Order: sequence, then structure tokens, then C-alpha cells
Amino acid sequence: MKSAFLTPFLLFFLVLSFYTSAQVAYQKMPVEKLAAAYEKYKEAAITHRRFKHADLQPLIQKHGADFKLEELGKSVEGRSITSMKWGQGSTKVMLWSQMHGNESTATMALFDLFNFLEGKNDGYDELRTLLKNQLSLKFIPMINPDGADAFKRRNALDIDLNRDAISQISPEAVILKKARDDFEPEFGFNLHDQQIYYNVVNTPKQATISLLAPAYNYETEINDVRGRAMQTIAGMNELLQELIPGQVGKYDDAFEPRAFGDNIQKWGTSTILIESGGYQGDPEKQYIRKINFMIILNALHQIATRGYEQYTTEQYFAIPDNGFQLMDLIINEMQVKVKGEWYPLDIAIRRRETENAAGYFMSASVEDLGDMQIFFGFETLDATGLQYLEGKVYSTAFESVKDISEEKAIELLRQGFMAVKVKNGEARQVHSLPILVLKSTEKYSSGWMTGSATNFFLAKEGKPRYAIVNGYLIDLENLKNQEIRNRVF
Ligand SMILES: [Zn+2]
Repeated sequence: MKSAFLTPFLLFFLVLSFYTSAQVAYQKMPVEKLAAAYEKYKEAAITHRRFKHADLQPLIQKHGADFKLEELGKSVEGRSITSMKWGQGSTKVMLWSQMHGNESTATMALFDLFNFLEGKNDGYDELRTLLKNQLSLKFIPMINPDGADAFKRRNALDIDLNRDAISQISPEAVILKKARDDFEPEFGFNLHDQQIYYNVVNTPKQATISLLAPAYNYETEINDVRGRAMQTIAGMNELLQELIPGQVGKYDDAFEPRAFGDNIQKWGTSTILIESGGYQGDPEKQYIRKINFMIILNALHQIATRGYEQYTTEQYFAIPDNGFQLMDLIINEMQVKVKGEWYPLDIAIRRRETENAAGYFMSASVEDLGDMQIFFGFETLDATGLQYLEGKVYSTAFESVKDISEEKAIELLRQGFMAVKVKNGEARQVHSLPILVLKSTEKYSSGWMTGSATNFFLAKEGKPRYAIVNGYLIDLENLKNQEIRNRVF
């Protein structure tokens, strides 16, 4: 009797709970809808990678009505670190960016996301309500403001915050750990940038986004916490393959006992690492910013609906590994003379960014040489039959950089001059001439061995055919437009 009486009630509750969960059932967000949200809400005040802590403060404050702002503490140099909370759901998600100061792509996307979350009457209210009711979001943009202002990786103590999760020497690391411990999120997003030289292993495709569910022990075991992160990543990858097919890598999961991602995973938060890499034609990473916005919003939607449960850890492991096989320029079969013998060398060159007061310039050097067949160049030159040739310094000094035209520079290169002198100007000043400019020195360095600055000619019968100026390839017979960021020496 009793059970016969209870059955209709049980059925009623079963049906009720089915409909309750059906209200938030997971349906994939269309790419176009995510893209349109970005275009509508991107933060117009941020237009490039090198924004500063001070640039963000008014942008944080303008969200003070919809978000709960809290100053968590200050960096070594006294800059504020603020958390921004939004939503009242039971699933807690924490997102933190820029613990490495020069890794700013995701910070831009977070500010786009803040604008989006604050919007209304735009066709996205249903999504917003869902996120608001299911999730409690805690954002900490720019964990390392001192590093960000100098646009360098480490903090003002020269500590890598991502090796300070346990020792807690840096105030910034203390702030991040305390934020996690106080909030105890179910999900965490650890937002970084990786070097532009990362590729999808053994392919020439740049790893524009790399993802990782960090390991929580040396054995790289999988528990529920890490498994959930892997499932969520599998869903993110599905969207990414529509946006940037073949350009998603799985970051190395070797356990690092000092890192935040690994430890936050260990402390019970399903942690997802997003690494923003490079994308051809996007030096300021504005397209990659858009991709970040789209995959983060998509992931939040997956978490709010538990949509990640439809993905498997196998799908996560099917994402190809990251490689580090990209070079700016590879020159194959260049002839080099050593002790009277000619040797054909492949050399691989990278041009790395160096900060200065006005922005940055590039500093190119030889990364490796010999057989370079496992590497891929953004540019590749077959130098068969061409010989390495040192350049000369033009003896007559110009007044200043602006008195040297590009045509003049090319004319001098064709005559075998690699460098010109100027009377006025400052060392480290940036210029865009395809020739070396000397102010504080009479000489420049060059060479073909590993670590050498790459300033030389490739010559045929002693006549310059190509110039390699600070790693930029200049075809002296077929000039092309390229953006050059050189410095005055
Ligand atoms: Zn990083």
C-alpha cells in the first residue's frame, strides 16, 4: 500500500527534475553567435598587447555596478590586484590572467567578456541568465602588474610566479593562492601566452591555441577533477577546429610541483590552461583575443549546462601535441668557408622581441644550424650556390636616421655595406630601415654560428644577392614590403 501510494509522487519528482535539468540542457553554441558577441562587446579602449596596469583601472571601475570588485592586495611595486565577481550560481569558476607580465592576450579577452556579461536586450539575455543562475565567476585579470608594466615574464623580484605556488615568496603568488583557497572554485582557467614558435608537432602549422589539463602528480594520473578539465577542453577544441583547423596543440603535461596550474588541479579545482600562441598576420594578437573570448564563453556555457559531460578524455588525448619547431627564417645550403674548405649549412634564425622605452625592437640570432629538416620557417630560402659574405660599414656618417631613405639603404646593401653611421640619435631607438644603423659604436657583430647576430650577405661570385639584416631576409633583386623593427646601435 505504502509503495503504491508513493509511486505517483516519486514519478512526479522524477518528471519535475527531468524538466528542471532540461531547461539548462546543453546545446552547442553556434560559432557565428559567439563571434557576433565579440564584435559587439570588444573593449575598444584596448587595441594592442602592451597596455599597462593604469590602463585597466578605469575599465575595472566602470564594471563596479554589475560586478563585485575587491582589491585583493598589492604587487611588490604597490600596484593593485583586483578580483571581479559576477553571478550567483552554485558552480564556482575562477579565471586569472597574466601571471607572466608579457602574456596579455587573455586579459584583453576578459575585458571583452566583462562588457558582454553586462549587456542586455541583445538576443543574448537567455545565455546571460543561464550563466548568472548557474555560475559564480571570479575573475582576476593581470595577476602580475609589475611584470605587465615592464612587459616581461617575471615579477619585480625577478621571480617566475608560476614557480611560486608553494614557496609563496611573492605577494602576487600569496594573493592568487589565497583567492583560490577562499573561493574554492570547481573550475579554474589559467590564462597564458606561449612563444609564437610553438607548432602542432611535426607540422608547419602554428599552435595558435594550446590547451592543457595540468597534471597533479608525476604519474600524470587522471582523477575526476582532472578528467572534468579534459572533457571541457575536448569541447573547447571542437569549437577551435572550426575557427583555426589544425592549429590547436596539447601542451606538455609533465608535472611541475611549483606551478599554479598543477597545484590548483591538485587542490581540487578542475584546471584548464589556455596558451595563446601566434597567428600569421596578427602581431598584436587581436584575432587570438577574439578566439580567447569565444572559447572562454563557450567553456562557461559548457560548465553551466554540464555540457562537457558529453565529451571524453580520449577526445582530449586525441588533440595533437605541441612542438617547438618554428623559425622566422631558415636558409638552406648556404656555403660557409672554414680553413679553406666550403661547407653547405642550413641555418635557422629567430627574431625575438626586446623591450625599449618606446615599445620593442627585434634581435635576431642563429638558433641552430646543420641539418634543419625537422624545423619549419615562416620564411625559407634555398641558398644553393650562394656564399656567406661579411658586409662593410659605410664610412660617411649621416646626420640622423631620418636622413637615410629606404632606397639609399638598399643601394648601399647592393654595394656590400651592411651598416651606416649616424651623428645624432640614441642607441636602442627603433627604426624600420633595412640596414644596420650605428651611433654608439663603429662596428657591428655578425656570424653564422649558434647565438650569432645574423647580419650578412648571401653572395654569388662575390656580389650580394640577398642581405640578412637582423634576421630579416632582403631580396636585393625583388624587393618586397615587410615590417622591420630594428634598433640603433
Ligand atoms: Zn605563462
